[in-house]
Amino acid sequence: MPEPQALHIAIDGPAAGGKTTVARLVAQRLHLLYLDTGAMYRALAYLALRTQTEADNAAALRRLCEAGCIRVELDVTAPMGFRVFAGETEMNDAMLQSKEVNAVVSTIAAHAAVRDAMVAAQRAVAAHGAVVMAGRDIGTVVLPDARVKIFLTASVDARVARRRAQLASAGIDAGSHRLEDEIAERDRLDRTRAISPLAPAREAHVIDSSAMSADQVVAEIVTIVERARAV
Ligand code: C5P
Repeated sequence: MPEPQALHIAIDGPAAGGKTTVARLVAQRLHLLYLDTGAMYRALAYLALRTQTEADNAAALRRLCEAGCIRVELDVTAPMGFRVFAGETEMNDAMLQSKEVNAVVSTIAAHAAVRDAMVAAQRAVAAHGAVVMAGRDIGTVVLPDARVKIFLTASVDARVARRRAQLASAGIDAGSHRLEDEIAERDRLDRTRAISPLAPAREAHVIDSSAMSADQVVAEIVTIVERARAV
């Protein structure tokens, strides 16, 4: 008999749509491992800033990726629900969510060499077994055979409010962030890039969470997963 395929759940969507919170809660509810792939791109952006590597220097970014500088470990007991390292340094929310990282991450994520390295690392994680993976291209590119694909959207107003709360919990003062502009610009870059632009997978369940609590979104996704498991 063929091995049953591991349960892969892809949760994609635009910036600050609540993917991270929801994906982690879904993983907890279903006792699965969890990875937020945005953190990997953010860790690379952090490292690029620290090494004064320009966001448009594809060759230098490729070298950072090829040197294996970004590493992840799935560990539900870690503060973020998984661990991500830039070189030897373990990243935390405050490092990954800084204004400086936000300003360059989408430019860095648009390079083919960067995406190739990240996608390979993410597929290697999924090859170990069941996982809930959040990002922009998980259902379309990273795990096209994922059993369940969710595309989580929300209005810009709802996303600005969530991002403000996320920054506050990372101990970052959102006062100096122009959140609406930052989110709109990242949306523009993510949706219009040549490689793996943000878009729902054809089979994705699209959920607009503008008027929903995280618990309601989680309940809806868990129902979708249970239905998929039953067939
Ligand atoms: O999800 P988060 O907002 O933390 O992602 C930061 C940035 O990383 C996104 O704006 C996008 O440019 C990039 N990203 C990506 N592909 C993913 C996850 C994130 O291009 N799978």
